[in-house]
Amino acid sequence: MDTEVLIVGAGPVGLTLAYDLGRRGVRCTLIEQKQAPAFLPKMERCNARSMEMFRRLGLADKIRRAGLRSDVPMDVFIILAMNQPPLVSQHYPSVEEARAAIRACNDGTQPLEPYQLISQYTLEPLLKAECETLPNVSVRYGCEFVSFEQDAAGVTAQVSSGSGTRTIRAAYLVGCDGGASTVRKQLGITLRGEGNLLELHQALFRCDELFDRIPIGDGPGHGRHYHVADDRATFLIMQDSTRHWTLHAVVDHSEEMKDLFERTVAIPVRYEMLSCAPWRMNLLLADSYGKGRVFLAGDAVHLVVPTGGLGMNTGVGDAIDLSWKLAATLQGWGGPNLLRSYEIERRQVGERNVGASRYASLGRRKWRAQYRPEIRDPTPAGAAARENLIAIAKVEQPKSNEMIGAELGYRYVDSPIVVGTGRSTHFATIARPPGRAPACRMCGSPTAAPFRIASRRDTRSCGLAAPISTRAGSNRRSDPTAHRCRRSTSRMPLRAIFTNTISSCCGRICTSCGAGTVCRTT
Ligand SMILES: Cc1cc2nc3c(=O)[nH]c(=O)nc-3n(C[C@H](O)[C@H](O)[C@H](O)COP(=O)(O)OP(=O)(O)OC[C@H]3O[C@@H](n4cnc5c(N)ncnc54)[C@H](O)[C@@H]3O)c2cc1C
Repeated sequence: MDTEVLIVGAGPVGLTLAYDLGRRGVRCTLIEQKQAPAFLPKMERCNARSMEMFRRLGLADKIRRAGLRSDVPMDVFIILAMNQPPLVSQHYPSVEEARAAIRACNDGTQPLEPYQLISQYTLEPLLKAECETLPNVSVRYGCEFVSFEQDAAGVTAQVSSGSGTRTIRAAYLVGCDGGASTVRKQLGITLRGEGNLLELHQALFRCDELFDRIPIGDGPGHGRHYHVADDRATFLIMQDSTRHWTLHAVVDHSEEMKDLFERTVAIPVRYEMLSCAPWRMNLLLADSYGKGRVFLAGDAVHLVVPTGGLGMNTGVGDAIDLSWKLAATLQGWGGPNLLRSYEIERRQVGERNVGASRYASLGRRKWRAQYRPEIRDPTPAGAAARENLIAIAKVEQPKSNEMIGAELGYRYVDSPIVVGTGRSTHFATIARPPGRAPACRMCGSPTAAPFRIASRRDTRSCGLAAPISTRAGSNRRSDPTAHRCRRSTSRMPLRAIFTNTISSCCGRICTSCGAGTVCRTT
């Protein structure tokens, strides 16, 4: 084998997967067709759940240092132009404010980390640099995946680079190659749902003075999203530097974006349009998340409408779920069926988030449909148009910005690797397996055992975990630490496999007495 896992695509999902696999001691090769990370805006909101995962990977502080400063609120405005009082103002806390709220409440209802605004063009180079520090991760830009064949023992991929076409042999292949995924197409897996809902242009502007001069709201920067009440679906988003702004709108030609920027900002500022390109809104989900030794993650399997911020964030969750299962299987402590649970656990989250995104975008469409040409007029008809749009927008716009249920509240219903996963017809605010563990701090507790998951017999018979004898032998490296069991005189292994699934933490649980720890701080 040239490598244990070949990952196609160095977007945020492929990079997160490579980093987590590398930290787990898995040899992996990450190939990317671009020569280097691009300075092109896409996502900018890393949600609370992704930040919890990045915290476990030791990256949360680095991401915060590279991202937007922590005192800037995430306020959302609906405006006619920036020099006029907003039609609708919605306050969303800065990271500092969110941290204060988290500190004040330790009942498990808060995330352990708040969101972080960081532009994709900042995040990707950061993750790339972190991957390059790991000796068992090989990161190759300028290398395009062409095709693959798989057999019982591995996958053989053809890749092309400046030096020609070559073969890479790997135990597993993961396609993190985005919405047009070549890997998905070669697997014959279809995306279903609503494609090409709307085509917008996105222009990236550099404007150094706007952040300090915005005449709306209080405090620096004042806000993140400025939706313009017009018939072009125009919206302006501040990027992490506070010097860069993206404008989205339905236009025929790129040049129109400059006019729209000036009309939206509506105060004289010096600016430069750095790039402009069309993009399309989709709500699509793949029929399957892989076949055999080939898996898919991120936009390769789910495409959502971006505002609401569930695209990359869902993909980061895919990467984290797949990573430990690949590591467990390769290191001999995951049984032959463990990897099958990836699709069962993550496709339902993809489906749920496509649904959440649809719900949010329908809300947006509803208030935008209230636009009337006279909305700017100082006439009774203009006032009536404004009042009507405001009334609908106050109800519908928050659907895009208040997604904490989708972000934190997902459960792995019917997962074969967690007991007690039965479907529930009633809502419960407390965490139940296989949901995310509540973010109360239990690090260091020697006996806390918040989740008793499965007996050793269960796991042996279903083939999800390798027999103890296998794990105790040559694969010592991946064996969880032992502890003094309350039921047994011998030292029993503490296993991470199940606590990892539900809480993505480094928790351990004893399969004999149920003692364990859940650590959400490392
Ligand atoms: C305007 C906009 C705003 C958004 N805002 C947010 C947000 O706030 N929060 C959020 O969570 N999401 C947001 N998203 C969505 C987010 O950008 C995507 O979900 C995310 O980029 C998906 O990451 P990925 O790694 O799966 O795929 P991608 O980022 O698409 O990366 C795929 C990579 O694979 C490479 N590749 C493709 N084919 C090959 C090949 N054959 N060989 C080698 N390499 C290949 C590509 O070059 C690319 O680098 C937004 C999207 C847009 C368009």
